[in-house]
Amino acid sequence: MTGAERIVHTTCPYCGTGCGVEARISPSGRVEVAGDRGHPANFGRLCVKGAALAETLTHEGRLLHPIVNGTRASWRTAIDHVAGNFRRTIEAHGRESVALYVSGQMLTEDYYVANKLMKGFIGSANIDTNSRLCMASSVAGHKRAFGADIVPNVYEDIEEADLVVLVGSNLAWCHPVLFQRLDRAKAARPGMRVVNIDPRRTATSEIAHLQLSLKPGSDVALFLGLLRFLEKSGRRDADYVRAHTSGVEEALQVAQVWSLPEVAAATGLDEMLIERFYEIFAATERTLTIYSQGVNQSSAGTDKVNAILNCHLSTGRIGRPGAGPFSVTGQPNAMGGREVGGLSNQLACHMELDDPRSRELVKRFWGAETIADRAGLKAVELFEAVGDGRIKALWIIGTNPVDSLPEADKVKRALAACPFVVVSDAMAQTDTAAFAHVALPARPWGEKDGVVTNSERRISRQRALLPAAGEAMPDWWIICRVARAMGAEGFDYAGPAEIFREYAALSGHLNDGGRAFDISACQEIGAAEYERLRPFQWPWRRGEAAGATPKRFFAEGRFFTPDGRARFVATPFRPPESRRSAKTPYVLNTGRMRDQWHTMTRTGLAPSLSQHIAEPFVEIHPDDAARVGLQPAGLACLSNEHGSTILRALVTDRQQRGALFAPIHWTDQNAGAARIDALVAARVDPVSGQPESKASVARIEPW
Ligand code: SF4
Repeated sequence: MTGAERIVHTTCPYCGTGCGVEARISPSGRVEVAGDRGHPANFGRLCVKGAALAETLTHEGRLLHPIVNGTRASWRTAIDHVAGNFRRTIEAHGRESVALYVSGQMLTEDYYVANKLMKGFIGSANIDTNSRLCMASSVAGHKRAFGADIVPNVYEDIEEADLVVLVGSNLAWCHPVLFQRLDRAKAARPGMRVVNIDPRRTATSEIAHLQLSLKPGSDVALFLGLLRFLEKSGRRDADYVRAHTSGVEEALQVAQVWSLPEVAAATGLDEMLIERFYEIFAATERTLTIYSQGVNQSSAGTDKVNAILNCHLSTGRIGRPGAGPFSVTGQPNAMGGREVGGLSNQLACHMELDDPRSRELVKRFWGAETIADRAGLKAVELFEAVGDGRIKALWIIGTNPVDSLPEADKVKRALAACPFVVVSDAMAQTDTAAFAHVALPARPWGEKDGVVTNSERRISRQRALLPAAGEAMPDWWIICRVARAMGAEGFDYAGPAEIFREYAALSGHLNDGGRAFDISACQEIGAAEYERLRPFQWPWRRGEAAGATPKRFFAEGRFFTPDGRARFVATPFRPPESRRSAKTPYVLNTGRMRDQWHTMTRTGLAPSLSQHIAEPFVEIHPDDAARVGLQPAGLACLSNEHGSTILRALVTDRQQRGALFAPIHWTDQNAGAARIDALVAARVDPVSGQPESKASVARIEPW
């Protein structure tokens, strides 16, 4: 044993809270983790998942070498094979016949080069990300209202608010450290109020003064009623609306019919309860509305977002201390993906594919011969195109769509029929890897370097703690090698610092302030400085000190629309697209558990995390369980036209009658035929393309 203990500051790889982690590595390689007291997202706190990170630093189950057609291969062979197949497919069928499906688990540098390869060198925008399943509706809602995808507020607003309204967010389980901040703020300031809007009662409900268990998918009706109430009761900030917004009349016209009885009928809530919520909202200047997947994962997700934003615009409560709408993202780098252009309808650095000047700017900056000139396929469409043969070569990086996409059995069939599938993953055995013609070993958290952006626009470093397992390589390295083997120039980076530097330079290139995303202060960052980079919030423009610009956006009432005004959006109420029937009489909601993450490839390695809930389950109301003859803890069969699964029944009145809830984490690999997404209908929001993962329909019966 030689050397001394090392301390590495890095970032948790799970939720969008983006907690700082301090890892202590002993000379023998033993790792202990604790919260980073100096990180402004968590100030030393971690939830159970973050605290168990050291338990997951094992080589168990890892993919250690490239595999080509079932046989171990050298990196050279594997890269040439991937590049050759992509090149030949493009030559034979055109650039739209290939696609990348990437992940909010990727680091920003990985995302940047993947986007550059696809949109720049190949010239197609057929690159989409699993973040489409997470927050695409928020992106679309922000762009409609603000003219740019901007989260206006910051985490301190949780402590500054007098009222926190949670919508479609089980913060206690899905963003536990943010929940801890809220819980402490409430304890310190007894006057603070919390309203929880969620069809289920969850752990988050326990701190709520008001729980609104509305009918699944009826949020737009509730917020249309609030907009009308603010108007009728004279609580609209008329001066703000006149000076800083447009479109209020159209939005109010749609809201006009949403009187209390109408809202009660649509939401199933008691009128007095609704009125109480409206009164508290109207009376509280410092109101923060935190929303998450219950809002985004809907066939009306973008309208839900805009219905919330409308109420904040109506009161001028936006980007102010303790006041504003706050989308919290699910994944560690969903925000980084948005910034870098990881979605198929974005370009890079908040530039738009449908803007010819932006396309020309990016093309010249990259030195590319071509650039994508229209939006590519969004996640659900992309896999439909794989299924019907339009996509003939697909590269999946850091995600498991066979488990996580809606109508997951259809995704399986699509991959089985696809002529060429490449999977980059840290793990050898996943439900998606089973379909790979080429499997490429990627470095996971603890072995890779780069940056991520959390829900409050804070960019933090992830740093390697340990040497890579086997021949695993970082995603950026793999993508650049394939790009070079395809003949692309501009992919010969020495490391992630150089990629970050280029990305930062692009963000500031010909940016006169018209683009909000700007980190050009980092455009000359050297490798040593990059190594020391402390967490910072964007924007951070060239020549400015870190934190010189205001942390919040829009406090002065200027937005990124052509006229500088925020836009109200008229949002007629549309119920969920899947309708209950005699054959499928239950609404099926899906979501996360406290101690697991995605398809458990990492959290499943930590024994302590399985002590919370060890097997897949479905929540059902006692009256419904009695009606179908289901005993508590009995086995239940859930089914619909898309698939079926067997789950343990958790009979609880937290669940409302006629509705079911099942977690997303179990797979064929870890539980045997427990993929709940096999039952989720592939219905998407028409604006954002985000699937409706919270309101499919199913039947349930004893197994
Ligand atoms: Fe990690 Fe999220 Fe837990 Fe923080 S709250 S430790 S980011 S999982």
